[in-house]
Amino acid sequence: MSKAKELKTYVHKLYVIDEEKKVAKLKNKRCPRCGSVMAHHVQGNERWHCGKCGYTEFIVKAAPQQPKEKRPERQEKKKK
Ligand SMILES: [Zn+2]
Repeated sequence: MSKAKELKTYVHKLYVIDEEKKVAKLKNKRCPRCGSVMAHHVQGNERWHCGKCGYTEFIVKAAPQQPKEKRPERQEKKKK
């Protein structure tokens, strides 16, 4: 059957092949709870879902009305 082929396609969805560096980078997030690859759902509320342990992380998009947090980030860190 075509089970192996489907599996390969699935893996290809999870990784991005960097042709220059010849490395496969993981595209999806990893579950903070169990460490397996999470699925990205965009229908309805955008979220990451782990099919292994059921962990769901909702992607909260920042409201455009909220002003940016004022934080001075120009300070250089001194080397010890
Ligand atoms: Zn998990």
